[in-house]
Amino acid sequence: MSGMIDETHDPKRRSWIASAQGHPEFPIQNLPFGIFTPPGAITARGGVAIGDSILDLKAALDAGLFAGEAEKAARAAIGTTLNPMMGLGKGPRIALRKRLSELLAEDSVDAKKAQSVPDLLHAAAQCTVHLPAAVGDYTDFYAGIHHAASGGRRLRPNLPPLNPNYKYIPIAYHGRASSVRAPSLFEGAVRRPHGQYLRGGKEPPVFGVCEKLDFELEFGTWVGPGNALGEPIPMAKAADHIFGYCLLNDWSARDIQRWETVPLGPFLGKSFSTTVSPWIITPEALAPFRIAQAPRPEGDPKPLPYLWDDADQAHGALNIELEALMLTEGLRARKLPPHRLTLSNTSHLYWTTAQMLAHHACGGCNLQPGDLFGSGTISGPTPDSQGSLGEISESATKPFTLASGEQRTYLEDGDEIVLRAHARREGFVSIGFGESRGQIQPAR
Ligand code: CA
Repeated sequence: MSGMIDETHDPKRRSWIASAQGHPEFPIQNLPFGIFTPPGAITARGGVAIGDSILDLKAALDAGLFAGEAEKAARAAIGTTLNPMMGLGKGPRIALRKRLSELLAEDSVDAKKAQSVPDLLHAAAQCTVHLPAAVGDYTDFYAGIHHAASGGRRLRPNLPPLNPNYKYIPIAYHGRASSVRAPSLFEGAVRRPHGQYLRGGKEPPVFGVCEKLDFELEFGTWVGPGNALGEPIPMAKAADHIFGYCLLNDWSARDIQRWETVPLGPFLGKSFSTTVSPWIITPEALAPFRIAQAPRPEGDPKPLPYLWDDADQAHGALNIELEALMLTEGLRARKLPPHRLTLSNTSHLYWTTAQMLAHHACGGCNLQPGDLFGSGTISGPTPDSQGSLGEISESATKPFTLASGEQRTYLEDGDEIVLRAHARREGFVSIGFGESRGQIQPAR
């Protein structure tokens, strides 16, 4: 199964690629998949991040470095998207990971062979990375319970913070797939949207430039093999349909969102942009960082049987530290470091990713390779772990001050949000997700 610890996690395994040693994101124990274009090349292709380099899967395949299931996976990863590889399932993916780990290991019998392959490795800084898949459908969940409750308390103070359905259903809405981007595809630019909203909370609405632009710190899930229309995915099989994970920033226009959301849910307040980190971290790479789903607080209902699986409860959650940072013109001008807005953790999710996936398919909706889920904003229970500015500034009633002296509530033009994630555990090599970056451009 995907949760197995094997030789690819061995903390003693070192790569002959010097920059991989102690690399905070991409040591040899990580081996995430993505799509990139090397310098001077015309076409994008599949690659693997290793240290400060990217390994070209096509170059490795052409050199005959793969066989069997690993070759099958690599062959499905040499096009301009990873969708074909995603559809193959975990067997070929695991075989390719094992072979890559072996080829890149310092003591590998095939190290010399790999080192002799022309253009096997490219300096990551000189490559362009792309959105790793053609996203057929994007769904945004709402599984960060602290975020959901905080929003309820601020926006509906006279009602219970959570709707009665929250603890029974992994709540979600269908997002917009066409506006999902990975940073370098459009240089991280997020255009401030126009829309309709109440200015000063008063009707009638105006049409204008969003005045309450926010980010949301989320964990993304990439779907692997799909299901046929009308054939649900049972909980026990749900994990097999997950290809991997990324960071996801669900940019949110709070003024537009608030006016439009009742009765059918988010629409233009969310659809203008979603940013993901370009590297897909596999379930295998995250095997050491799996944890039990936190027990539900006393009095909360047990999930209905179709959302319950003992193995998923035992190790279906993840212990990944999540960070959101802000860079502004003032911080950049004074060469000050980014301001850390929040430090959170995937363990704050009320539902596991397998529960979200099983619920998504329970009515027969067909999932497809390359579908993308957002987890919902992952806030923790404390003020320094809130995953959006709406929470941090308490709906703009409490501005905060940066080291540059600038004040903020929501995002201003030129502000940049950087999301990062790291998984750590005693006795294992830490791995990272790389970054998701986005900078606010003025409205047009
Ligand atoms: Ca969201």
